[in-house]
Amino acid sequence: MSIELVKELLNFIEKSPSCFHVAANMAEILEKSGFQRLNERDAWNLKAGGKYFTLRNGSSLAAFTVPQKEMEGFRILASHSDSPTFRIKENPEMELEKHFVRLNVEKYGGMLMGTWFDRPLSVAGRVLVQEGEHIVSRLVDVDRDLALIPSLAIHMNRKANDGYAYNAQTDMMPLIGGGEKGRWKEIAAKSAGVSPEQILGFDLFLYNRMKGSIWGADREFYSSSRLDDQACAFASMKGFQNSSNDRFSMVHCVFDNEEVGSQTRQGAASTFLKDLLERIMISLHMNGEEYYRKLASSFMISADNAHSVHPNQPDKSDVSNRTYLNGGIVLKYSANQKYCTDGATASFVKTLCRQAGINCQVFFNRSDMAGGSTLGNISSGQVSVPAADIGLPQLAMHSSYETAGVKDLEEMVKLAGTFFSSDLIMEA
Ligand SMILES: [Zn+2]
Repeated sequence: MSIELVKELLNFIEKSPSCFHVAANMAEILEKSGFQRLNERDAWNLKAGGKYFTLRNGSSLAAFTVPQKEMEGFRILASHSDSPTFRIKENPEMELEKHFVRLNVEKYGGMLMGTWFDRPLSVAGRVLVQEGEHIVSRLVDVDRDLALIPSLAIHMNRKANDGYAYNAQTDMMPLIGGGEKGRWKEIAAKSAGVSPEQILGFDLFLYNRMKGSIWGADREFYSSSRLDDQACAFASMKGFQNSSNDRFSMVHCVFDNEEVGSQTRQGAASTFLKDLLERIMISLHMNGEEYYRKLASSFMISADNAHSVHPNQPDKSDVSNRTYLNGGIVLKYSANQKYCTDGATASFVKTLCRQAGINCQVFFNRSDMAGGSTLGNISSGQVSVPAADIGLPQLAMHSSYETAGVKDLEEMVKLAGTFFSSDLIMEA
């Protein structure tokens, strides 16, 4: 079961080389299982027992159910669709001495740059074209080995293994051809099924072509690009599909732009989730007080990957809270509230884990390390409901090829399902 689930995840990741593909692929799965697509520009006429989803910017998605009985509140599980990568700039082609063509790219998020060298890369995202009175998106996935960022030979930099500071403008430009420039737009256009002249704008990114792999003495590990955060987004989706709740509205929410701070129209800091919940209330003819009562009975879990103890650097993890691959889901704490978990919301999640027999580990940063952040506190600042941060333990976060534990994915799917179908209320 665990292995099959991981294979399914790796397949999903392979088909989702950009945030736009994550949203589009989830939309397709939801439509196939009877969810109705809603456009933010249309009037919404929601019905009891109905199942719906909507997208913003084609890169953030929110799916929800309307309970059969009188609604008590929301069960919101939030994750993110984007991963660190390189974004292709306008006018990207750069010719060098008539022998090389490279693309001009800039960093999207905080990746480990060294992991992008010497491996086949390709290009994915979207292009925008005019169709009558509309500007519409067309997905792009070139889906073949197209580019590569070559390392400099050790003979040309003998100090390469002593630590090297990569320059994002000079070291990271992917090579895409050997002759003269003029090919790249044609390649992107062909993938989108449009002509190069039709392209008005684009949001295109590099991606690693290395396929996902399940490995280890007992096949206990798996590695792939974009595990952060497609693994949690996928697990949330799975739990959501397998659950029902006749008192709570279940909300599966996947935000774009977490890797660059969430402050966008479709990010966790936007009104996307708040607008969605308000529109559900308006469509169900609830008044303001009823809305606030429902919110007070709601709960949000933010699911974004967490750090396992590193086998070669065990001292980088906290002294008394140790998280490991295949040790179960991770509850993440931070005193400065980079993670929104507190004693009360942790108790809520631990109760769910206990009910379903899910292993739960605890993560803290070392007290002398700042650590990362995620979308939980940002989103609960917009929609003020009790919230906890959880994640799957992983190694090499923000590498172009990350590693996780096979057993943990199943635990996360189980937790998502338990949460969505739970009637538990937090009084604190
Ligand atoms: Zn993340």
